[in-house]
Amino acid sequence: MTVATNDQVRLLLDEVVDPEIPVLTIADLGVLRDVAVSEGSVLVTITPTYSGCPAMDLIRSEIASTLEANGFSDYSIETVFSPAWTTDWMTEEAKVKLRDYGIAGPAPVEPVVSGIGYQVSAAVCPLCRSDETRMVSEFGSTACKALMVCSSCGEPFDLFKAL
Ligand SMILES: [Zn+2]
Repeated sequence: MTVATNDQVRLLLDEVVDPEIPVLTIADLGVLRDVAVSEGSVLVTITPTYSGCPAMDLIRSEIASTLEANGFSDYSIETVFSPAWTTDWMTEEAKVKLRDYGIAGPAPVEPVVSGIGYQVSAAVCPLCRSDETRMVSEFGSTACKALMVCSSCGEPFDLFKAL
């Protein structure tokens, strides 16, 4: 039996990253809600991000293999859907890492009422930091992201959609 504290297990789980954005850990994202160690048994609580993102199964198995690799055999991983995950749960550090990775956001994506298409408020180009940006497609490389283009430097970039 491995004796560990909640903090030690949290530290181990910093190895678990989002498969789509490998610079972000599940703690950065706010997906990791809780770690509770009791008499050698570990309970990990996670909340999925976007329901459209297929990453959660992968994240679960990453958590499991990380715990097993560190000698934990008695563990459970609980998925909690309420309260629902929002981009507000992302840490400030996560937002900086995201920008350095070339992804803007999170910013809300809202339909334009009197027109065609979508507008994005407060999307800043991760390359030149201009806010003269517009959306090309509501869906970028994954359903969680929108494809943007910067009017200032002309570069396309992904925007992490706010929830
Ligand atoms: Zn730009």
